[in-house]
Amino acid sequence: MVRISDITEYLEQTAPLSLQEEYDNAGLLTGNKSQELKGVLISLDTTEDVIDEALRLGFNMVISHHPIIFRGLKKITGSNYVERVIIKAIKNDIALYAIHTNLDNVKNGVNKKIADKLGLSNVRILNPKASGLFKLVTFVPKENVMDVLNAMHDAGAGVIGEYDHCSFRIGGTGRFKPNENANPHIGERNEIEEVEEERVELIYPQYLGPKVLESLRASHPYEEVAYYIHKIENKSKDVGSGMIGHLETPLNIKEFLLLLKQKFYLEQVKYTPIQTRMIKKVAVCGGSGSFLIKAAKNAGADAFISADIKYHEYFDAEGKILIADIGHYESEVFTKELIFELLKKKFSNIALQLSEVNTNPIKYI
Ligand SMILES: [Zn+2]
Repeated sequence: MVRISDITEYLEQTAPLSLQEEYDNAGLLTGNKSQELKGVLISLDTTEDVIDEALRLGFNMVISHHPIIFRGLKKITGSNYVERVIIKAIKNDIALYAIHTNLDNVKNGVNKKIADKLGLSNVRILNPKASGLFKLVTFVPKENVMDVLNAMHDAGAGVIGEYDHCSFRIGGTGRFKPNENANPHIGERNEIEEVEEERVELIYPQYLGPKVLESLRASHPYEEVAYYIHKIENKSKDVGSGMIGHLETPLNIKEFLLLLKQKFYLEQVKYTPIQTRMIKKVAVCGGSGSFLIKAAKNAGADAFISADIKYHEYFDAEGKILIADIGHYESEVFTKELIFELLKKKFSNIALQLSEVNTNPIKYI
């Protein structure tokens, strides 16, 4: 049996909730996570039509990119579409789950999908951020070090990029005196003891914290396990906003704009002209990405593809970068495929479907 929580826990390994932006509200928004899963419908936005589609299919989970509950709600009376969606979902036992800026901020997320659509190579995160990793330092008697390390690795600690089982150790002397109430693994009550120990350091992502600490306590022989935890502030190349990469072959401006129209099924593109004749290096950011115009320019991008660019922000191009606004929906609609592929990899026999509702509130003539 697959539960709602199996789906959410798996998605949060790929896109941990701790990586979402402060203003965001990703995660499980309605529903009981211990309920059995009947099927997952994947959408960009959660509208009433999407809930109706889930009901027709007999599914009880909707995963969307944009969270329907974004700001605080003080009343749920059905007076607007947000409230009506929530009411309908709760009445029908539908779990609503959003995977939003946490999926924007990982290296195999929303922006990688856009980069893949354009066929970009050598892609990297445009604006790296702190990884949300933690470092655990503990002290273990020499003969128990491997048991403790292996237990923590089994819990998922010690992964850096393409490397796992990563740790650092250095030898030293631990000193302690158990009191009369203690039950020491080594030494006697009321006698000072010295033990050959190793200081062990390893990192783990925030969401694994409880599991890693549990494995430490379970595998460490001491009654009182000494450890401390540091938050890592280093920026990580695997976490952050936007992406940048290279087109296979340089394109002139017209060819590039046509490529955008073709790959993203666009009726129109808003863009700024540039002095350079050829486009080679391209930066992308799904959704409202104007905060990255400067980073794209600094990274030497010939073009920056995003959405929700404001009039005055186009001026920042200054003829040096082609800013293309392809539309918020159009830039992110393939996130549905991304979520589908992620889930398909892990759960081969659940009912899983992309919503057929076009939730774009904007029409063109
Ligand atoms: Zn968006």
